[in-house]
Amino acid sequence: MAHSGKYFIETYGCQMNEHDSEKMCELLERLGLQVDASPEQADVVVINTCAIREKAEHKVYSSLGTLRNMKRDKPEMIVVVAGCVAQQQKAKLLTKFHHLDLVLGAHHISELPELIEHIGKTRERISRVEFCNDVSSLHMLAPARGSSPVCSYVTVMQGCSNFCAYCVVPFTRGKEQSRDSLEIIEEVSELAGRGIKEITLLGQNVNAYGKDLENGRRFSQLLEKLSLVQGIERIRFTTSHPKDFDSSLAEAIAGLEKVCEHVHLPLQSGSDKVLEAMGRGYKFSDYLDKIQLLRIRAPECAITADMIVGFPGESDDDFEATVKALHRVRFDQIFSFKFSPRPGTLAEHMTDQVPEEIKKARLAKVHEIQDEITQTYHRQLEGSVVEALIEGHGRLQGQFFGRTRTNKIVNFSDDGHHAVGDIVKVTILRGLKHSLLGEIV
Ligand code: SF4
Repeated sequence: MAHSGKYFIETYGCQMNEHDSEKMCELLERLGLQVDASPEQADVVVINTCAIREKAEHKVYSSLGTLRNMKRDKPEMIVVVAGCVAQQQKAKLLTKFHHLDLVLGAHHISELPELIEHIGKTRERISRVEFCNDVSSLHMLAPARGSSPVCSYVTVMQGCSNFCAYCVVPFTRGKEQSRDSLEIIEEVSELAGRGIKEITLLGQNVNAYGKDLENGRRFSQLLEKLSLVQGIERIRFTTSHPKDFDSSLAEAIAGLEKVCEHVHLPLQSGSDKVLEAMGRGYKFSDYLDKIQLLRIRAPECAITADMIVGFPGESDDDFEATVKALHRVRFDQIFSFKFSPRPGTLAEHMTDQVPEEIKKARLAKVHEIQDEITQTYHRQLEGSVVEALIEGHGRLQGQFFGRTRTNKIVNFSDDGHHAVGDIVKVTILRGLKHSLLGEIV
């Protein structure tokens, strides 16, 4: 195909997917394509999919339906489906959607340019979804493209070996595979050279990093090494698993200046019965022990979590245990979801599914409780001074936005003396429901 033209990319799901999309953008631009804000004018359209929740999967099918009509008017358009739905459905997608050209699994992202060129020349329809044991493709610098030019993701491992009963990730991303630490350090140094100030280390189970490596390196050791990289001011990481959270990680958060005080530690349910059915590998009391460990060593640390309501067999008492857990832990923020059965998982055929109405009511209650807790935390910050990295310009003119070390969004007015990438002290004037409002000290 001609080395000019436009591409459009639509992303669903998690930060891992966002980062994969950033990499695909970089690869398509190396081919000479330029991004377009809508698919109508694009020569290549990529839908990077998520299969974690039913809703996200349905959106993918609806986008594909819209593209069918567009491709009728523009038959040379190349349509790609990447991500978890691609991995799960494989070549079946090609049979179902005749206007689809490429099904691309997560382990094959680096091959995107060659595949696009090949399809452009031959119009062959391709499915490339096999798992491979080579993590070298994860070493791909992607320019910071998200909300900020000074923050970047770095994938340190891929896959997950936990097989929680509700989750598709082990089927769509394969088993846990860690990258070599030297390669990661090299990548982070390069990012620092490009002006990146903050990195977020990504892995489906990031704190299990190193367990599969020969030298059995720990995640906390990786944090130590990365703390030495000149130019990087802040290090974040996500997502951690409670069973792999140990004292060395609590020590790293407490002791390493660049490691930000925030841990995302999905709890999923407050009921031991439900946790066992989910196959999470811990009881609520184990989870509390880890939280206590963290709060003793790093009392400033913010804790966020994922929660699922309506898992099969979740009784009123089980849900009550979740409510109690929210009050007991008092998370800074949570991401809560209604359980939806995902194809191929253990929970798909579990009996005792919870009726939709009950799930809805439980989710609403969780939101209500958590909103109040989050806002209380935000209000408690009023009058205090926090450190914020300026990530970009806010929606209002003359305003910057940034995040505190504890991962709270803060908007503040531009005092004319600072720029994106600066770390500033901000006095919090108001604690709102989802963010903070402040002014530079
Ligand atoms: S730990 Fe469980 S929920 Fe998380 S990615 Fe692995 S299987 Fe999915």
